[in-house]
Amino acid sequence: MSQLPGIGKRTALRLVLHLLKQPKEQTSFLSQALLNMRADIKFCESCNNISDTKVCEICANSSRNHQTICVVEDIRDVMAIENTGQYKGIYHVLGGKISPIEGVGPSQLNISSLVEKVKAGKVVEIIFALSSTMEGDTTNFYIYKQIAESEIIISTIARGISVGDELEYADEITLGRSILHRVPFEKTFKNN
Ligand SMILES: [Zn+2]
Repeated sequence: MSQLPGIGKRTALRLVLHLLKQPKEQTSFLSQALLNMRADIKFCESCNNISDTKVCEICANSSRNHQTICVVEDIRDVMAIENTGQYKGIYHVLGGKISPIEGVGPSQLNISSLVEKVKAGKVVEIIFALSSTMEGDTTNFYIYKQIAESEIIISTIARGISVGDELEYADEITLGRSILHRVPFEKTFKNN
């Protein structure tokens, strides 16, 4: 239990004691649910969002705009943006950010499949929605360099969100606005 993120030893002990007090079936249900989750959940073939089907609900939804792709770090960002109700395009989940310190390089992330989509001419706009940390900026710029030649709109969410804030913690109104008032990506670095 204490291996789980955000759970220290004391919380782990509290959870274990709680489970021990419950009827045995309760623990069996929980164990089975965890096993099912691990066995059944897949990653969407198209956007890498988690899904229990080959293609996730968002990618399978024909009423969404499939020519606008919002690039996010992980599933939590998809959930945060979906909660705003302001975005009707689809997503591309990278699975992390480029981080030399943590040994994460571009090849470990789902970047090439995004570049392929752009090169296949299926995309009108790419919106970067990574957190504005050094890793987020590095990742944006790396992707930008690969797709800058393509005749598409490349934008980034407006920064009502201050530097270093993670998307999942931004409130829904701020995040919703920052998507609606997105800015051309080039403006964020060309004059610096
Ligand atoms: Zn998908």
